[in-house]
Amino acid sequence: MDKISIIVPCYNEQEAIPAFYKAVTETAAKISGAEFEYIFVNDGSKDKTIDVIKELAQRDGRVKYVSFSRNFGKESAMYAGMEYASGDYVAIMDVDLQDPPELLAEMYDNLKSGEYDCVASRRVNRKGEAKIRSFFARCFYKLINKISQTEIADGARDFRMMTRQMTQSILSLCEYNRFSKGIFAWVGYNVKWLEFENRERVAGETKWSFSNTR
Ligand code: UDP
Ligand code: MG
Repeated sequence: MDKISIIVPCYNEQEAIPAFYKAVTETAAKISGAEFEYIFVNDGSKDKTIDVIKELAQRDGRVKYVSFSRNFGKESAMYAGMEYASGDYVAIMDVDLQDPPELLAEMYDNLKSGEYDCVASRRVNRKGEAKIRSFFARCFYKLINKISQTEIADGARDFRMMTRQMTQSILSLCEYNRFSKGIFAWVGYNVKWLEFENRERVAGETKWSFSNTR
């Protein structure tokens, strides 16, 4: 039986966590041949996020968590989750259900076939997003792809599933200021892209701020 670790960075997400847990565990139950562990990373939330996570962990042995003393940002949360993950496959998902859980099955199937090391996801539009944000996000991708030799896809999400081997490669980089979308591309490996339409957050608000345009 394969084990899939799902890493879930959470910052002030007390409302979104129960909906995420319900949707993802229901979807996961339909995937045969794999068992799941859920690694929630509390990124220094100021609301009751940690209490909600602890309650889930008490009820469900597959739920584990890491908790930060303050807010370090999503990049650090993803990294801590990857260090903690014990699965044969490692996935990263936002907790607000903007990353469609139904793609997990396709990701797993593609990895299992042995043809790919990573199955990543791309939003094909930014519908529903603040216009100013979309504008600066586009500028960011244009600029970064001009100055960097590592191609970074516009619309790429952090939502992806990868093999243990690729996970180890990422963890072995001693990069302090992490930009995961760059690192995921830079380590190489065979990546398959799945596309999906943008969808709205299930609860709560975006934690995006101007200093974090992508
Ligand atoms: N997040 C985090 N630390 C932060 C900001 C966000 O762990 O400092 C998490 C957040 O809880 C969510 C994911 O990262 O699970 C994506 O955040 P958000 O939905 O605010 O970003 P957006 O979808 O607007 O890009
Ligand atoms: Mg979101």
